[in-house]
Parts: sequence; C-alpha cells; structure tokens
Amino acid sequence: MASVSIDDVTKIYEDSDEGRILAVDGVSLEVEDGEFVTIVGPSGSGKSTLLRMVAGLEDITEGTMKIGDRVINDVQPQDRGVAMVFQNYALYPHMTARKNMSYGLKLTSDLSDEKVAERVEEAAEMMGIEDQLDKKPGSLSGGQQQRVATGRAIVRDPEVFLFDEPLSNLDAKLRVHMRTELQRIQEELGTTSIYVTHDQEEAMTMSDRIVVLDAGQIQQVGTPEEIYNEPANLFVADFVGSPSMNTFDVELNGNTLVGEAFDYHLSDQHLERVREDASDGEQLILGIRPENIHLAESTEENAIRAHLDVREPIGSDNYLYLTMGGEECRVRVPGDVKPEEGTDLTVRFDESNLHLFREKTGRNVLADVEPAAQAQASGESSVATAED
Ligand code: ADP
Repeated sequence: MASVSIDDVTKIYEDSDEGRILAVDGVSLEVEDGEFVTIVGPSGSGKSTLLRMVAGLEDITEGTMKIGDRVINDVQPQDRGVAMVFQNYALYPHMTARKNMSYGLKLTSDLSDEKVAERVEEAAEMMGIEDQLDKKPGSLSGGQQQRVATGRAIVRDPEVFLFDEPLSNLDAKLRVHMRTELQRIQEELGTTSIYVTHDQEEAMTMSDRIVVLDAGQIQQVGTPEEIYNEPANLFVADFVGSPSMNTFDVELNGNTLVGEAFDYHLSDQHLERVREDASDGEQLILGIRPENIHLAESTEENAIRAHLDVREPIGSDNYLYLTMGGEECRVRVPGDVKPEEGTDLTVRFDESNLHLFREKTGRNVLADVEPAAQAQASGESSVATAED
C-alpha cells in the first residue's frame, strides 16, 4: 500500500487535426495510503487521462507524480506497483479466466508457478469465481468477466488499484451489486484505490473522497457529504445530485434576494456571510436542492406561491414540478404528501441548505470549503481567486 501524490500535473496532447489539447490542467491531489478516491466529471474532463498518467500509459507533460516516496514520471508501467481494471475488461479471449489472471503476474514477477496458482485461487475466491476459472471470457457473463478482470488486478498485489469506469458495461442492477463488491474487496485488502467514473451516484456511494473534474481542472475535493452539501461552485452543485439543484437568478438588495418569483429575506447569520463576498446590487444565483423545499403555510416567512404542474410518484417519494413566476422548480416530498395537480400551493426553502453562487465566478459564497479546493474552483479559476 502507498499514497499517491500528484503535484501540478498537466497533460497536453499534440493532435494532428486539432493541435494542442489541454486534457489535464495543473492538477494537484494527495491520495492517502489505503484511501478510496473517485474522480468524477463529464465526458472529456480529463479523468481517464489523469488515471492513465498514474498507470504510466500516458506521458506526463508537466508536473510530478509519486507513489509513496518514489517519483514515477519515468518509471515503466509494470514497475509502478499499480494494477488497472478497465471498462472493457481487456481480457484475452483465447485464454481461460485462470490464464488471464495469472498471465501478467508470470510475466512481471519471478514468483513460482505454485505461488502464482495460489494467488489466482485466492483472488478467485475473493471474487466468487472459483468455479469459472477454466472458462474462456466468451462463455462468461459481463459480471463474471468484470470479476475476472478485478481478480487479475488483485493477484498482482499492487500498491495502488486504478479503476477506469469498470462498471459502465454492466446493467443497472449488476452495477449496484458490483459497487458493494468492489468496496468490500478494497476494504478487505486496504489497497489505495483511484476510481474513475462519469456516474455521480457511483462516486457518492463508493468513495472516501471525491474529486470533481471539469475541463482538466479540479473543481472540488471532498467527502461525498461535503461535495453534496457544500459544493464549492455552481458546476459541482449542478453535476452532483439527481434531480439536480434548482437555481434562480437573484439580486442582493439590502437583506433581500430579489428574484423573478420571490423576495427572499436572509437571516442575519446568512447575511453576514453573504456580505463578506457580495455587495448590494450584485447578481447571484440561489441554489436549493429538491428535497430542501417544503410545503408551507402562506403566512410563513419567505413563503413562495407556486403552481403545481405535475406530481410524479417515485415510490417512497413524490416529485413535484412547480412553476414560480415563470421559472420551473423541482421539489421532492415524502410519498404521503400528495397535493393536487393543477392547483396553487405555497413552499419555503430550508435556509440551512441554501446555496448562493456568485454569477461571475460560480463560487459558492456560503460553503466552508478549504482554500486548496477553492483555488482551482470554477473554470475562471485565476479570475475567481484574484477577485475573491
Ligand atoms: P474523460 O476520461 O473525462 O472522458 P479524457 O481524459 O478521455 O476525458 O479526455 C480529456 C481530453 O483529452 C478530451 O478533450 C479528449 O478528446 C482528449 N484526449 C484524450 N485522449 C487523447 C489522445 N490520445 N489524443 C488526443 N486527445 C486526446
């Protein structure tokens, strides 16, 4: 086991058609020994490139990567102590599961055949595929192939596991099952793991910490709770959570946020925080998650009139699709809360879960995010830090 240290790493691809592509842009990240860190972000945000640089499958254009105390920039992939599990499993079709699992280890280590066989048996048992070892990939299900691919990584007893969207090719139910299985294996082995996915739900459920990437830059690093409850900026707020956070354009006017559909009076506590960052007349974006909006009496403070267009039952909860002064808003309420479709109602925002973003930089002025994460926050990072 070992830590992984990524220090100001940049990757530029020289593409014959498109010229220079800045895929990873000055990323710094410390992954602790034994930690499970997930890198999440939209397609093209640089997740795979970052992971492939750790694996040694891509050169590092600038910056330094270390595993433990060792700088690995120029170390061959097989000598880095990493094992990677790919999205397409990358199994040899003509080899049995057993051979697939042992092949790499035999090539790269001087372990005896007995020792290799023993490790394969152990890993297969861990993955629950002992009785599949003599089959070839073509006669295994997607889930079994994925287990063989993970087993192959386990037999190498690496210092670091690298997972590149390993569950994307599985159906939804199996994906959920394999999530818990991979977590169990990681906990059992305690191996430092970096896991790339575009699936925010996977990231939220599996990780010790999540790294949110956009356009090659880190937007935020934090525990799943921090990322969800205190998104550093509008990008993170919007990317994480389903259905996504509601957002409304507002203007700060004294102690009030004036929007198209409502005037929202801030409590003194919030006002103090907002005042540190924003001045009167400033354009802000108010963000509130669907589960943080509640039905209210019209006499309550900050009550907002809305029209219920659609009520959608999703089992335990109902989604309410509202319009407020021409703006759409999604609300999540318990399943036994069933207002009539097509009627007017009143809602209120849960102030403790209110988010306010500066329009110019996207920065969340109410989040307590560590400065390191803020430094790169928002695509306009240098502008954001200079201004804030
Ligand atoms: P993600 O894994 O988040 O989808 P990638 O790391 O695959 O993102 O890609 C990041 C950026 O780098 C994208 O703009 C992509 O087109 C570009 N890119 C990735 N691989 C190559 C390559 N081999 N040559 C040129 N550009 C590449």
